[in-house]
Amino acid sequence: SMAEKSFKYVILGGGVAAGYAAREFAKQGVQPGELAIISKEAVAPYERPALSKAYLFPEGAARLPGFHVCVGSGGERLLPEWYKEKGIQLILSTEIVKADLPAKTLVSAAGETFKYQILIIATGSTVIRLTDFGVEGADSKNIFYLREIDDADKLLEAIKAKKNGKAVIVGGGYIGLELAAVMKINNFDVTMVYPEPWCMPRLFTPDIAAFYEEYYANKGVKIIKGTVAVGFTSDSNGEVKEVKLKDGRALEADIVVVGVGGRPLTTLFKGQVEEEKGGIKTDAFFKTSVPNVYAVGDLATFPLKLYNELRRVEHVDHARKSAEQAVKAIKASEEGKSVDEYDYLPYFYSRSFDLSWQFYGDNVGDTVLFGDSNPKSQKAKFGSYWIKDGKVVGAFLEGGTAEENQAIAKVAKLQPSVQSLEAVKHEGLSFACKI
Ligand code: FAD
Repeated sequence: SMAEKSFKYVILGGGVAAGYAAREFAKQGVQPGELAIISKEAVAPYERPALSKAYLFPEGAARLPGFHVCVGSGGERLLPEWYKEKGIQLILSTEIVKADLPAKTLVSAAGETFKYQILIIATGSTVIRLTDFGVEGADSKNIFYLREIDDADKLLEAIKAKKNGKAVIVGGGYIGLELAAVMKINNFDVTMVYPEPWCMPRLFTPDIAAFYEEYYANKGVKIIKGTVAVGFTSDSNGEVKEVKLKDGRALEADIVVVGVGGRPLTTLFKGQVEEEKGGIKTDAFFKTSVPNVYAVGDLATFPLKLYNELRRVEHVDHARKSAEQAVKAIKASEEGKSVDEYDYLPYFYSRSFDLSWQFYGDNVGDTVLFGDSNPKSQKAKFGSYWIKDGKVVGAFLEGGTAEENQAIAKVAKLQPSVQSLEAVKHEGLSFACKI
């Protein structure tokens, strides 16, 4: 049988959280041979958001090693050599298929065994597939999902093979919006399909969504709302040909990209660790219910102090910060010290075409729209505040400068009181800038 490998610290997963955790370990001091990252991906940790953006550009595309962590937050780029220099083992192309937490053991698909003293679970999420619901023809060729770099590479090949063809984007979330834009930039004839009455319904208000929908329409992206894909037909090569909609229509398609949500990858740990809200439950230091086991990133359900609530956050900023918090807590506890509780301000962003938005805080309560939200404006700049119990709790801004984005972040963090919705709507961005 294969030799067993043993480490003081193992990070399971090689995504965003893993990369930022490795950097924090190096900062705090880690001895050569103490730390291993085990990842089913073939490459060192990279900034995942690039995959739905610059990675798919027809010109000037982002490529590794250009976007390894931690460049996405303005930090040092950790190349494979960096891990080698630090004595951190990058165990790539290695899928863990069994985790035994009481025995502190992980087993790979190839049958290798890894032992650890402290485990950080950072397996992230996986995409929800239409085949999961038995959608007819959903296993046809050229129907793509996007999570890992391998997925993006397959899509790139199809983009080349189906030059100037027709693309159907299933789903109106941020993956759908980013993919619709990038397929259009690749000169595809693009149609988006989603069941909700407006795009990004979990965050956008109807007003915000109206701006993006009209902007996309002006770029030539067709949008079909209020219906879903119920089946696909394929040609004799098994390649997708048509998307059948519930409302009876059929759309021709050379490429289909599906972005209908994700699911935290907790399967390996079922029954071994406490779960909550679909994720692995942690405390404010990302410690799970099992001693010496931590969970970070997309799959952690943690106390969001600001809202006094347990939440899961599937965004890159939290993946980075939760990873750093866990490592700081691990290192502090080894010295009998402690660190402050995680005090996170939710932050999401997206970019497509010439657009760029940021959101901070909580999207609950009443909303006001401010600024110039005419999609035909040369430089549209507009935003929204969410107001609950007389306080601003969330803020959104399209087209903001770095300082303006900092200002809306500050508002969401400090939650200032407002006189009236009218007053704050009238003041608009200057309300945030004077806080
Ligand atoms: P991941 O980065 O997904 O890393 C998980 C890692 O675990 C992967 O390497 C995976 O291969 C590995 N793994 C899983 N299971 C196993 C196993 N059994 N054995 C071994 N390895 C395993 N967020 C934003 O805020 N803004 C954006 O614009 C944005 N764009 C995005 C675009 C795309 C295409 C995607 C997919 C996500 C985007 N996100 C964005 C979300 C953000 O990327 C995630 O929140 C973040 O990557 C989560 O980090 P993580 O480390 O928890 O998981």
